[in-house]
Amino acid sequence: TPTIGVLALQGDTAEHLAVLGGLGVPGTPVTRPERLDDVQGLIIPGGESTTMGKLAVRYELMEPLRKHVGEGMPVYGTCAGMIMLADQVLDGAEGQQTVGGLEMTVRRNAFGRQTESFEAGVHIEGAGEAPFDAVFIRAPWVESVGDQVRVLGRVEYGERAGRIVAVRQGGLLATSFHPELTGDPRIHRLFVEMVKGQA
Ligand code: GLN
Repeated sequence: TPTIGVLALQGDTAEHLAVLGGLGVPGTPVTRPERLDDVQGLIIPGGESTTMGKLAVRYELMEPLRKHVGEGMPVYGTCAGMIMLADQVLDGAEGQQTVGGLEMTVRRNAFGRQTESFEAGVHIEGAGEAPFDAVFIRAPWVESVGDQVRVLGRVEYGERAGRIVAVRQGGLLATSFHPELTGDPRIHRLFVEMVKGQA
């Protein structure tokens, strides 16, 4: 069984560790660059991407993260973590840095600040038949994707219908929403299978 790290600079690290625990997969918080060598996959949690990016630079994790992504380490990003994996960010903060690796442009806070959060049923390719109860909290959406990116899920109804909220490119997986908050482990299970090379 692989060990999966959860980036623990800022954001909802504990919730991701709890989901991994529920799946019987060893998870460990990652705050130092050396720890990246001890894990076979990494989750970047939700939180605030500008702050997370600044902390990643300050703790000398940004370059090691880029290196590991470049070498093919599987990484799953939720919400702010999705932004961290994006090659380009719209409506980012001045000088906002990301790890990158996923050939996509995300729009930060796309679902609107005043709305704060909403829930919607979203089907995710590769994660079972039933829709996810997707929770969006000042979430980004994916504005556009490159050739190598597979779209796994979109908002299905309402004025945001069609907006991309789940993507995969090789070992990189990202969702706009937070499956770690709703007790539905199917996307984490998909990620664990990706880490094992079985999906
Ligand atoms: N709006 C946040 C950001 O820009 C993301 C919110 C979240 O992760 N729930 O990073």
